[in-house]
Amino acid sequence: MSVNKKRCGLVVISGPSGCGKSSICKELTKNPQIKQSVSYTTRKPREGERDGVDYYFVKRNEFEALIRNNKFIEYAEYCGHLYGTPIGPVEEAVGEKKIILLVIDVQGAMQIMKKMPDSIHIFIMPPDVETLKFRLKNRLTEDEDTINKRIVAARKEMESSRHYDYCVINDRLDDAITEIEEILQI
Ligand code: 5GP
Repeated sequence: MSVNKKRCGLVVISGPSGCGKSSICKELTKNPQIKQSVSYTTRKPREGERDGVDYYFVKRNEFEALIRNNKFIEYAEYCGHLYGTPIGPVEEAVGEKKIILLVIDVQGAMQIMKKMPDSIHIFIMPPDVETLKFRLKNRLTEDEDTINKRIVAARKEMESSRHYDYCVINDRLDDAITEIEEILQI
């Protein structure tokens, strides 16, 4: 494993909905040295999403019990739903000297920055807001109201990108992946 000079396997990836985080991580995890953490969420599965693969889908009271039992390394509320990263798999991957990707929102990333200062934080930026709107509408997984909420959230998130170690513009997927591979030195 090589994760540039900071030498920690924990890599946080954030970016607004529709910026292409999933496609980027799908490519990166083809490398057997790279794992992606599976989060818990209280939001409903989208069509095609699988429990235990895309997320662990739980009820709010179950999520709250996990918080009380200190099962999360970070958690946050995003657009009315709770999302959290289970601590166990992260510790396991770091122990195995693997790279573990946490694809989480800005609030969660801030918590990880404080707890794990040697982690690496990458913000994926869409080329512009119009492209983001187009991608969100095109994927047909959210209704108009949800899309609008996510655009409002996106504008706020993009303002926070300055707190990240790296900002990668996802205009062309291949270029964005190459740039991240260079950052991680893989
Ligand atoms: P989505 O509902 O589109 O899958 O995710 C909404 C937002 O929640 C995205 O920005 C995603 O990266 C973020 N997210 C997913 N899992 C987690 C998590 O475990 N913790 C935090 N803080 N955010 C997460």
